[in-house]
Amino acid sequence: MSRKMQAAVVEQFGQSLVIQELDIPTPGPGQILVQTEACGVCHTDLHAAHGDWPEKPSLPFIPGHEGIGRVVALGAGVTAVKEGDRVGVPWLYSACGHCEYCLSAWETVCAKAQFGGYTKNGGFAEYIVADPNYVAHVPAGLSAIEAAPLICAGVTSYKGLKETGARPGQWVVVSGIGGLGHLAVQYGRAMGLRVCAVDIDDGKLAHAKRLGAEAIVNAKGSNPVAAVRQATDGGAHGVLITAPSLAAFKQGVGMTRRRGTCVLVGLPPGEFPTPLFDVVASCITIRGSFVGNRQDMAEALGFAAEGKVKADIELQPLSAINSVFERLLRGDVPSRVVLDFSAQ
Ligand code: NAD
Ligand code: ZN
Ligand code: ZN
Repeated sequence: MSRKMQAAVVEQFGQSLVIQELDIPTPGPGQILVQTEACGVCHTDLHAAHGDWPEKPSLPFIPGHEGIGRVVALGAGVTAVKEGDRVGVPWLYSACGHCEYCLSAWETVCAKAQFGGYTKNGGFAEYIVADPNYVAHVPAGLSAIEAAPLICAGVTSYKGLKETGARPGQWVVVSGIGGLGHLAVQYGRAMGLRVCAVDIDDGKLAHAKRLGAEAIVNAKGSNPVAAVRQATDGGAHGVLITAPSLAAFKQGVGMTRRRGTCVLVGLPPGEFPTPLFDVVASCITIRGSFVGNRQDMAEALGFAAEGKVKADIELQPLSAINSVFERLLRGDVPSRVVLDFSAQ
């Protein structure tokens, strides 16, 4: 094993990532070293590199939280995984394991949680140090490339749909048919839900239809809220907003049926106005949802292992990361780009 690795590093917020040769890290006690095979590129990586959110990562850092690879070294005391296992290093990099949230399977909101590619270096690198207690275990039937988008986009959209509380036969709106949304359409169908897809791009909407959406609405149309309410017989029981656009949030609340739940997942910086009277008088729930816990992860991967959900993937080498980011910002990535480390 060479002692150097290639990594894409954010040195300054809002500037191009720099491909650097770095020392391969050594796993400390209780840690593992993963040799990256593939890593998806999430819109969150773009927010991270732009310093979009109130709590910013410390510079420099390596983004990427859809990294999949083989365990190649174990630190002292590790028993949860063994060398050669194929694992994913997700956004939920680690948590304390002891607080009220960890004890109740809400480790995603643990105050001591660490985040892959944000507070810890992530998968835009040939090697990743990880916590074996929080890695995703990739089912045997899935390749590294197929699994990569599932460990953030997949688990987040699956958990978000569960959080809508919508039951089989009921309507959900998926707003934003990108990396998360194209998987949400498939999870929704696999969960027996009726899916209405909303985006601002006709190509993405046509794709949603191919993936099983019954209704599609272009949010650039004159009244997308009315169009969705009509298509869903009075509003969707559940609305999942993955669009990184504030406009989509206000619209999403309007698309929610009486007593329905609007789940916020997209993370554009800022705030959105809430029509209080409508929310109160229609008894609407508005709820945030943040990735998923480890059991959600296993379930999300399980749907793919059974062939019910499949990410649409465009492969790129690590060296293409800046052009991938530019396209993602313009909404120009059809579904998910996965960095293929065998192509270096
Ligand atoms: P993406 O860029 O792949 O997809 C975004 C999609 O939204 C695109 O298809 C785009 O055309 C569409 N869109 C843009 N404006 C819209 C509008 N006004 N109405 C409807 N659709 C619109 O992004 P992604 O990787 O799917 O991530 C989406 C968002 O989710 C990002 O903000 C990301 O940070 C966030 N995210 C949140 C979590 C979480 O745990 N809550 C996890 C992962 C990603
Ligand atoms: Zn993500
Ligand atoms: Zn905790």
